Amino acid sequence: MNAPAYIGRFAPTPSGYLHFGSLVAALASYLDARAVGGLWLLRMEDLDPPREVPGAQDAILRTLESYGLHWDGELVRQSGRHAEYQALIERLLDGGLAYACTCSRKQLEGYQGVYPGFCRDAGHAPRDAAIRLRVPQQRYGFDDRVQGEYRQQLDREVGDFVIRRRDGLYAYQLAVVLDDAWQGVSDVVRGADLLDSTPRQLYLQELLGAARPRYLHVPLIIQPDGHKLGKSYRSPPLPADRAAPLLVRALHALGQQVPGDLVEARPEQLLEWAARHWDAGRIPRCRTLAEAQLR
Ligand code: GLU
Ligand code: ZN
Repeated sequence: MNAPAYIGRFAPTPSGYLHFGSLVAALASYLDARAVGGLWLLRMEDLDPPREVPGAQDAILRTLESYGLHWDGELVRQSGRHAEYQALIERLLDGGLAYACTCSRKQLEGYQGVYPGFCRDAGHAPRDAAIRLRVPQQRYGFDDRVQGEYRQQLDREVGDFVIRRRDGLYAYQLAVVLDDAWQGVSDVVRGADLLDSTPRQLYLQELLGAARPRYLHVPLIIQPDGHKLGKSYRSPPLPADRAAPLLVRALHALGQQVPGDLVEARPEQLLEWAARHWDAGRIPRCRTLAEAQLR
């Protein structure tokens, strides 16, 4: 059997509950998949237990269900894939593509987050050290379906980046690329806060020999005070009993025009209509909360 042409996914981190911004991202990836009869997978990115909010995983699953966002297949948890991440780390170390770094936070102050390469050729042992990926002196870029051209010069703008932390936790960048490749994801639809992670992910894909997915980064919802809507106290969890009106708002945030007679519909009916009329070309590049709430 041929692999389905479109495989999308939603990959929440349980460091908080789903909020309106994550609903917009989930909805966009769901509709983009369903509009073409594709699969929509769900992956829990639970790589960082200390930052996990107790109960958030269950709450995320319940919210998706009550909003009618039903996923295909079994939920994958990254906490169950440590052996795969470790095997990849070892391959990268053995190949000289990654190295151990013992720099303290203090030593790295003043470099604006771009690693200055102190440990590049130091030959430290990987135990109790962070592992960094060596980046090439090269530009990595792509053409985002909403945000357009985006590129970074990895060595100058990012530097060798951490793929396993000193405390042994695997980095998001590593896990997301390995898992998207393993799950055969053809289309990554997610929030624009991850736009500047994408060039790092393109480089990792190249190392893995993985196919490059298409990318669509949905606009962040900017609050009146200029902050983005995130997993902070400012972002209340989504109420289960207001699924339909909040889906309508999220559709509006994505530039989709919802006919008035659907405003009273159940979530499943709304989603069915929205998948049939999905037009990714209408997604704006940027949205304020006030605009997203207009109907
Ligand atoms: N787990 C990431 C987050 O919640 C999203 C990962 C992705 O979609 O690539 O921000
Ligand atoms: Zn170092």
